[in-house]
Amino acid sequence: MRELLLAGVSALMMAAAAPALAEDPAIGRIIDEGMNRSQVMINASQLMDGIGGRLTNSPNLRRAETWAVGKFAGYGLSNVHKEAFDFGRGWELLGRSARMVEPRPLDMTVIPVAWTPPTDGNVRAAIVVAPMSKVEHFAAWHGKLAGKIVLVSLPGKSDEPKEAAFKRLSDSDIHELDKYDPPSFDPDTAARRAKRRAFPGQLDAFLKAEGALAWVKRSYRDNGLIQGEGYDYAVGKSPALPGYEMAAEDYRRLVRLTKTGAAPVVELSTNARYDDSDRNAHNIIAEIPGRDPKAGYVMAGGHFDSWIAGDGASDNGAGSIVVIEAARILRSLGVQPKRTIRFALWEGEEQGLLGSRAYIEQHLATRPIPAGLSGIDAYYAWSNSFPITPRPEYSALKAYFNLDNGSGKVRGIYAEQNSATTPILKEWLAPFQSMGAGTVVASKTGGTDHVFLQAIGLQGFQFIQDPLDYESRVHHSNLDTLDHMRPDDLRQAAVVLAGVLWEAANSDKELARPPLPTQPVTTDPFKVPDPDE
Ligand SMILES: [Zn+2]
Repeated sequence: MRELLLAGVSALMMAAAAPALAEDPAIGRIIDEGMNRSQVMINASQLMDGIGGRLTNSPNLRRAETWAVGKFAGYGLSNVHKEAFDFGRGWELLGRSARMVEPRPLDMTVIPVAWTPPTDGNVRAAIVVAPMSKVEHFAAWHGKLAGKIVLVSLPGKSDEPKEAAFKRLSDSDIHELDKYDPPSFDPDTAARRAKRRAFPGQLDAFLKAEGALAWVKRSYRDNGLIQGEGYDYAVGKSPALPGYEMAAEDYRRLVRLTKTGAAPVVELSTNARYDDSDRNAHNIIAEIPGRDPKAGYVMAGGHFDSWIAGDGASDNGAGSIVVIEAARILRSLGVQPKRTIRFALWEGEEQGLLGSRAYIEQHLATRPIPAGLSGIDAYYAWSNSFPITPRPEYSALKAYFNLDNGSGKVRGIYAEQNSATTPILKEWLAPFQSMGAGTVVASKTGGTDHVFLQAIGLQGFQFIQDPLDYESRVHHSNLDTLDHMRPDDLRQAAVVLAGVLWEAANSDKELARPPLPTQPVTTDPFKVPDPDE
């Protein structure tokens, strides 16, 4: 009842005065609620410390889904529900161990690669260093791998970092983001990528045929960081051999020891479980209904799934709890916006933006892709197939704001090369200038869930965030834990997101839609393909 009254009063005020948005009293209430009664760290603790890593379609992600649905419902959001999409196998890691037993006992840091099979107790064997990165490398190792644990990466060299491990953006860093990068299109890219993607499966089959017992790759970062990303989650495509990623320091020690004496003997184990009870993953949706059904909706989202090594804190528990907090703040206003505000927590992002693509296919637009493609193959096919056929809901979506750049505070927004939107985005960020979030830059960003909205010609945006130690340490790693989150940054991000959503939901203006993409032509028609690529 109270809500209805307030909604009525608010509608009258808007009609009578239409105050400039920066003068909208709701902005002050958003800042007050988000700064003085924030729930972000309580929610961060429940999600990261309490539930932890959230591999897509794992039992842990199911627990997290129940938690998130309960949060949205508990905060009074409407239409809270899950939308299923076809994914593949569930998998969960319950334990692992790795030690060198000869020439001396030593515990080592490893993580099983996601979706690789468990071992039957310990696998104990001598190692062989056999770096292989393409099928042409297999012949040199034929007949030499039986009964061995195979180290399949080059050792590389230890790191000489050029950048600070923890970083905030300076004004000039932000200024450098304000540039137009010409897009490029190379029709051969798809075939090259398909070849690279096929290799892990070919390597697994070769090692199995040779009688190898397990394989180990080197972590791509130093300092004991491990990630465990990877592998095929499709039903019927699971690898045959247990596979591991090893800390670079441990890996290089093993390689050096093979040069100075007998091959070290190593003992590895994986306690993991496939879960084929349900192939579906889910997007979680919640809403604050708008008062004008013809005005469409605005949306914010971030992916809820993570990799396995850490607690999925900065990637992307941070974005998820900020989206949930923005929903809480906006609902606490008790005032109905003109447009519906929809919130989404996506799954399957780490496997190729699968959740946001499923949402687009279900709600916004379809693209023709050949049947039978899954995962990252479907990602590339979908991104490059034409024509795009809008669904009836297409023109209802007026703006989408994504959060997936760690737990750093918001410094502004990328106009994503849709420069017609810059003046309005600046206006909407103006109340948050003094929080450091006032800048709009031209650059286009990729790699996360706003990408496919842009790919169908809709207004998808991402915020500029302070990087903190996202790239240097926490992204996908065993250090992606709550310790590396900054409470003040998360409070600020939730306030800015809530404010921008409120303005987008009530503004008389709409962000310009970019043109509907059509098939591009080759950027460099004179390029001669490199046969070694
Ligand atoms: Zn992410």
